[in-house]
Amino acid sequence: MSNPAPAGATPVAPPPAESLVQQIRDEILARPRFLITSHARPDGDSIGSQLAMAYALDALGKQSRIVNADRAPDHYYDFPGMERIEIAAEVPADADADTVIVMECGDLSRTGVRGFEGRFIINIDHHVGNRMYGAVNWFDVSAAACSEMVFDVIRALGVPLSFEIATHIYLAILTDTGSFHHSNITPRTFDICRQATEAGVNPAAMARRIFDSNSFGKLKLIGALLDKMQLLDNGRLAVLYLDDAMLEACGCTNNDTEGLINLPLTAREIYAVVFFKVTPDGMVRVSMRSKYDVDVRIVANAFGGGGHKNAAGFTVNGPLDQVRDAILDQVKTAVAEGVLERPAQT
Ligand code: 5GP
Ligand code: MN
Repeated sequence: MSNPAPAGATPVAPPPAESLVQQIRDEILARPRFLITSHARPDGDSIGSQLAMAYALDALGKQSRIVNADRAPDHYYDFPGMERIEIAAEVPADADADTVIVMECGDLSRTGVRGFEGRFIINIDHHVGNRMYGAVNWFDVSAAACSEMVFDVIRALGVPLSFEIATHIYLAILTDTGSFHHSNITPRTFDICRQATEAGVNPAAMARRIFDSNSFGKLKLIGALLDKMQLLDNGRLAVLYLDDAMLEACGCTNNDTEGLINLPLTAREIYAVVFFKVTPDGMVRVSMRSKYDVDVRIVANAFGGGGHKNAAGFTVNGPLDQVRDAILDQVKTAVAEGVLERPAQT
């Protein structure tokens, strides 16, 4: 395990790179108009980090607009401020912001939105290999969610933890840790969640809204996916396959696929999951999840993608038959190496 966690005694670490947090605070305080963005196909961390930041800017009397390449999955629309997110492939022509805050993106192209280049960019991220594309770059790979970093910035700005801000910080942590499953959780994570709970967040309600808001169609899809699941490597590796025909047969859309990848990991023997989604244009979207020290980010990197040790992804040209074995071979290697590190008490 990468995070030593002696019971009780671990002090909550101060924000790392404190001077960078202060630099970001000073830039934000000095500037009036902001664009906020994050990666394409947003997840809970990208949504939560952006909206927490937007509410903090509101509290400071700053103007901000949020521009994303894609709509978030439907269940995120239960949370405050979602109507503020503008969906666009390009920065809107009437956006006269002088500053862009990019969160959760190792590379500016991850936004999927054109037109941020050449502006004053504040880059806040927790992915290994961040390309430092901003005027100010803070990336902390020890953060369990980008929202942990946003929390530090908001505290440095002196903005109180409102219910809305706390909700989005918590939403991001809950989702980006795979509901407190991934290995990058630290005392800092729980300290932030504690403060969010004190600010009025109801953890049970959050978990229900995020994880127990499936459609009936999604339940059917779970059945269809697990029915076709392959087990490889003596049952240590599960492979899921999805295409548009399966989605349609279950009355689902791409919006219903979030979280499906985690299902096989509930089996004790399974250490890694590869989820192949074939798109109509012949591309293959590959998502991976793993347990313990099985590092799927290395596999994603080898194929031009990225992510974290326990959650990573990439997109390759198909057809699936031609790319599948090379990908699975690398995941098997990652399992063989990481499985040795399985903690004793699990
Ligand atoms: P997901 O499997 O949920 O799409 O992504 C899991 C993790 O891998 C997320 O942290 C996400 O940012 C990262 N990731 C997924 N796809 C890509 C990709 O194409 N490029 C990069 N750099 N990261 C990715
Ligand atoms: Mn994240």
